[in-house]
Amino acid sequence: MSGPPTPAAGVLALQGDVREHLRSVKRAGGTAVEVRTQADLDSIDALIIPGGESTTIGRLANLYGLVDPLRKHIRSGMPTLGTCAGMIFLASAVTEGAQTQLGVLDMVVERNAYGRQNESFECELAVEGWDEEVHAVFIRAPLVHSTGPDIEILARHRGRPVLVRKDRILASSFHPELTSDMRLHRMLLDMVGRD
Ligand code: GLN
Repeated sequence: MSGPPTPAAGVLALQGDVREHLRSVKRAGGTAVEVRTQADLDSIDALIIPGGESTTIGRLANLYGLVDPLRKHIRSGMPTLGTCAGMIFLASAVTEGAQTQLGVLDMVVERNAYGRQNESFECELAVEGWDEEVHAVFIRAPLVHSTGPDIEILARHRGRPVLVRKDRILASSFHPELTSDMRLHRMLLDMVGRD
């Protein structure tokens, strides 16, 4: 007997912790795909933008002509999860300077606001609608300065949003792919095929 088709989640594979997300997708029950071209993007049901360096991800996305196709897919409802640099790339602005951003989440973020690489930290966080807290790993994470009215805040750290949602877009300033907690990846896969 064959069950429902396994959703394919693509991880934008330009730079960053792609491998960890691919592993999490598989553990969460999805088919993991590396996304480097528009054709890859057209073949997936859900998208993940990993952590790494948001400036590099933006630069490479420009170079490979992926910025408009990414915007188009996300705006037309493709379930999307951005983590850390991925959150920055999804946002509309950064507090300092200018870099390529998709602007699909109406919020302003400050880069590297939670400490430098070797000052990363971990903590337990309550998440809206979850019975158990999540173990959150922050690495030079972005701080969310302001959010538009359509951004739902699912978790906060010291009063600041660290997990947000808008329609089918999820973004976290921490790294779920570095733990064995699959709940965010499952949330992403569960949005596939829903109205
Ligand atoms: N500091 C990185 C940036 O600004 C994000 C860090 C991360 O993704 N772990 O893009």
